[in-house]
Amino acid sequence: MSAPTDPCAPLLARAEALLEDLSLHGVAAWKAAHGGAPAIGIMPVFAPRPLFEAIGVLPVNIYGGGDRVDVIKGDAYYQSYICHIPRSTIEMGLGGQLDALDGMVFPSTCDVIRNLSGMWRMLFPQKYSAYLDLPQTFEAPLGGLFYRHELSRIAAELVARGARPLDADRLREAIIVENRRRALLADLASLRAREPWRLKASEAYLLTRAGAVLPCAEHIELLEAFLAAAPERPVRAYDNVRVIVLGAFCEQPPIGLIRTLERSGCDLVDDDFQLGLCAIDGAIPLDEDVGDQSPLDTHDPLDALVLSYTLRGQATATRYIADGVKGEALVNRVRTLGAEGVILAAPSFCDPALLDQPMIEQALNDAGIPFTSFKYAENSAQFQTIREQAGAFSDSVKLWGAA
Ligand code: SF4
Repeated sequence: MSAPTDPCAPLLARAEALLEDLSLHGVAAWKAAHGGAPAIGIMPVFAPRPLFEAIGVLPVNIYGGGDRVDVIKGDAYYQSYICHIPRSTIEMGLGGQLDALDGMVFPSTCDVIRNLSGMWRMLFPQKYSAYLDLPQTFEAPLGGLFYRHELSRIAAELVARGARPLDADRLREAIIVENRRRALLADLASLRAREPWRLKASEAYLLTRAGAVLPCAEHIELLEAFLAAAPERPVRAYDNVRVIVLGAFCEQPPIGLIRTLERSGCDLVDDDFQLGLCAIDGAIPLDEDVGDQSPLDTHDPLDALVLSYTLRGQATATRYIADGVKGEALVNRVRTLGAEGVILAAPSFCDPALLDQPMIEQALNDAGIPFTSFKYAENSAQFQTIREQAGAFSDSVKLWGAA
């Protein structure tokens, strides 16, 4: 008897092909179909995609070369004790793989991204290059207005290079479409948490990451098609340990590493891999009363975009949380999802993730939540030790642990 077919297989294959399209052929095709409209690369972690879509620009999240780019020239630009993503990004730029892009935006994630923005400006002076300073104070009259100015500046610079003028109606429409995507991503997350054998972490990763290179409306079609077909998938439940992965928000682990974790007896019920698409809690608050006596108003779509970040940005290593407690959001997430443990997975030499780790570990210890940790690089090729470590962790949680 032949095995039942998986109706989601073609959708997952398409998402994986997008992940492997390192030379951005899909982006070049989009540009050709849109009269040469600009496409702009966005480095991790976060820049608001609706702003770009509203001015007719395709935002393309760039995550370096993963495990499929041999870094030769890129190594010459960085000392050895720096993470891998800037090296492979430079390598791709110099090798012409990012030629489909008309420019790059570098959000203020960390010093490495800041340095990369300066190098980019020197290496590719003919291309647009912008440093996006995200606020670290979130009161509307300070960080809010500052961030609004940053977004207006970048939009104006892109308009001067051929983008459409920023128009309130088009921005409002882009936010509505983005909110639809956000609702679908929430549905995806909920399905995965409920039935991790129906939607594995590696599959959720591919489906989410497809949004890094697709226009929002096309990503919505992909997500809707998957969610409609998912109930028909032939699946088998496993008695795995439910874990959350944290720390992999910028340089991405190879997809093979995520699959290795799945094979080690862990159901990864949540992660921060694609934080750039998910960095806001809930919807962008369009026409909502956000209870903010401030100069910003969600009836103005640009203000709404600003307030979504200042009021609803998720707690991450790259965001100042003032009086908040590091790790508290993670502990709450563990409780909400019924997770039994946490895997702290950070890129080697990633300051934001690794400087947070002791405080996160303290919070997990205080809450009695088991955890393990390892480091990786985007081009890691040997997963056996990680498989053994994660396997031993899942066994120990099953035998002795309880979150
Ligand atoms: S991996 Fe970490 S240190 Fe490297 S660019 Fe990303 S956030 Fe910065």
